[in-house]
Amino acid sequence: MAGSISLRSNILRLVVGLLALTTMIILANVWIATNNHAQQQLSRNLQVAEGVLQEILANREAQLINSATVLTADFGFKQVVATGDRGTIDSVLLNHGERIKADLMALVSLDGTTVTSVPAVLQAQQPFTDAKLIDRTLREGGAASFLVLDGKLYQVIMLTVDAPTPVAIALVGFELDQALIEQLKQITQLDISIRVANVQSEQLLISTLPAAQQREIGASLNQDVMGGFGVGLLQPATFISREFQLAQVSDFSIAIVLTEDIGHLLSEFLPLQANISIIAGIAIILAMFFAVLLSRRMADPLTRLAGMARSIASGNYQLAVNTECGSRELNHLVDAFQSMQANIRDREAEITYQAQRDMLTSLFNRHHAGQLLEERLSKQTELLVVGINIFGFRRINDVFGYQNGDICLQVLAARVNQLGGLAARLTGGELLWVPESPVSREQLEDIKSSLERAVDTGEVTIPLKVAIGLIDCPQHATTAEELFRRMNIVLDEAQITRQLILSYDEKLEQRYQRRLSIITELKQALSDRPEELRLFYQPKLSLVSGKVESAEALIRWVNGTLGFVPPDEFISVAEHAGFIDEITDWVISRAVQDIVSFDRAKVEIKVAINLSARDVVNPHLLPSVLAKLEENALSTHKLSFEMTESDLVSEPEKAIEYLQAFREAGFDIALDDFGTGYSSLAYLKNLPIDVLKVDKSFVLALDSQRSDQNIVQSTLKLAHSFGLAVVAEGVENEATLSLLSKWGCEWAQGYYISKPVPVEEFIDWYHQQTVIDE
Ligand code: C2E
Ligand code: CA
Ligand code: CA
Repeated sequence: MAGSISLRSNILRLVVGLLALTTMIILANVWIATNNHAQQQLSRNLQVAEGVLQEILANREAQLINSATVLTADFGFKQVVATGDRGTIDSVLLNHGERIKADLMALVSLDGTTVTSVPAVLQAQQPFTDAKLIDRTLREGGAASFLVLDGKLYQVIMLTVDAPTPVAIALVGFELDQALIEQLKQITQLDISIRVANVQSEQLLISTLPAAQQREIGASLNQDVMGGFGVGLLQPATFISREFQLAQVSDFSIAIVLTEDIGHLLSEFLPLQANISIIAGIAIILAMFFAVLLSRRMADPLTRLAGMARSIASGNYQLAVNTECGSRELNHLVDAFQSMQANIRDREAEITYQAQRDMLTSLFNRHHAGQLLEERLSKQTELLVVGINIFGFRRINDVFGYQNGDICLQVLAARVNQLGGLAARLTGGELLWVPESPVSREQLEDIKSSLERAVDTGEVTIPLKVAIGLIDCPQHATTAEELFRRMNIVLDEAQITRQLILSYDEKLEQRYQRRLSIITELKQALSDRPEELRLFYQPKLSLVSGKVESAEALIRWVNGTLGFVPPDEFISVAEHAGFIDEITDWVISRAVQDIVSFDRAKVEIKVAINLSARDVVNPHLLPSVLAKLEENALSTHKLSFEMTESDLVSEPEKAIEYLQAFREAGFDIALDDFGTGYSSLAYLKNLPIDVLKVDKSFVLALDSQRSDQNIVQSTLKLAHSFGLAVVAEGVENEATLSLLSKWGCEWAQGYYISKPVPVEEFIDWYHQQTVIDE
């Protein structure tokens, strides 16, 4: 904006410009008005003076005629004229002339010849040239006129000398001289000049004007106001004139020029004009002063506001603006600016807050925690970073709903926040805590149990279990990225292995990597390479009938890169990674088809399917199973399900509800791996199950281990007392089988009977068995 003009100078220009223009217009008007007035007055003066002058000259003429008449009527004079004696005539003329104070006396013959004159000026002009005047004199007996002789102007009266008829003409002249016009000037208050003009030239005869001005008469003649104004402005002593003709005598005209000095007239108005000019000047100065003041009052706050806007633009919202502007509009603007600044400040604070915070828990988010950790890690100081993960958070959401899951997280976040130090939420149910001071293992145990207090959402009470992962920096992480990745690994491991306080070490990394490859490979196998997956069957021998009436379906996976992966391993990975339902779905579909094959091959067995914890509470499972059976026109008695105790403990009510639905649909339910969990047998009576599978760890060495024998025997007793049938898995020898048979165990499963085998092999084996039996 370097090229633009400032507001201040704009205001200044506008105010001063307007005022100057107005003043000039007023001044011009005053000048025009005063000059008009002056002109009117002048022309009135000149007109009056002309009238007065005419009157005076007429009076004088009458007086002169009187005097001349006295002369011509004088008898003696007539006689002298009649004698024609020049000498006498001269003296008479002289005498008479002196008596009547005439300046020129002459006797002119009737034919116009000058007889004589005193002084003798007229005699030189032979004959008297003005024939018209003589004619008129003869006709009327007298005439008045003017004569210019020797540069002097005379008013002349011509009268006939009658004796009794005219014998000559007497001429009496009175000079219009300086004294006369000075006298006239006294009367008219105007300068008077007399001009004589003939065809060839113009000549000023006499004037009351100073010699210098006499020359200007021609120029000033009948000048108008503006001319007078112009001249008057530059030369105050100049004048204007008015000319009127006094007489037209034969070949010349006589004019009187009245001259008025406009200087003195205008000078009456000069103080007025000067006053106006002074007032205008003062007004302009005052206007400039106020314009500067006003513009400063406006421009200064605006400049300050501009500065404020610039500082806001550069991110500084703390600038206070002086609100004293003096103008209400500007004050409003300043207020608006300030509230804008405050709003932007608040909004930016909020944006910053939101950008740094996790919306649900109000803890720092992963990104901001990363930045803060990066700062601390760069200082190379020792740092313990604690990861806290809600155990089975996903299941909490599934079972109690997301709202309750959120409340759990918020409560846990608040508890972590209360510990002091830095707290953040990474993802899902994963929080991060950086203690201010070092914490011991015991302190961590205490903290863990304080974090695990059950959460009352007002709707339900949710038991909390957390896994704690520890990372020592800079040993195990030097960047935030590395820290987060390793935190992920250690928390994952803690969850899977249920080592609920676990420190990071390098071995975890390999296991984690393996789990990652299992996840990717298994997912691909499920969607694109189902041939990698197979279902094996292991028979269950009825110790009551001695027949194989059932078989457990066990999944097998041989992957191109990973090779054979034990089901224990990938099933738990899939459970934690959350896609176990896809595997279960595959297993059930496969099993249903295999049942069709068994039917065709006359293998009359019931197939047992293993379910995982998440399957138990999956509401889509039962309808999907029923649909698959129906598609193949199979009864529900063809399938049964096994699940472990630990699958049931996290939310027993819900699990029991679902299991009940399975049983009502006609499926048998077996509780797998019995004895490895920690639930009491009393708890069994509430479970909707039909069969108990004693875990193979108690069976494998049953024939030799007394303690196992005790456990199995008492389990059998209790199960039977609850009306449950018992399956012993892991039967590897005959001795074990006969012990079980002796103790009244209903079913036996194990390598001694058969390892898990593919369908075709199972069919063959089954028919062999039947043949052997028969
Ligand atoms: P499980 O349900 O307890 O299955 C029995 C396991 O014991 C099987 O191991 C079986 O091969 C093994 N076994 C049977 N008789 C003997 C014996 O005489 N001696 C010994 N040493 N072992 C015996 P497998 O097939 O490796 O399966 C391991 C676990 O993987 C299963 O334990 C089960 O929890 C899980 N699993 C297998 N298939 C599936 C499946 O389709 N779905 C689900 N959810 N889990 C499955
Ligand atoms: Ca099983
Ligand atoms: Ca088992």
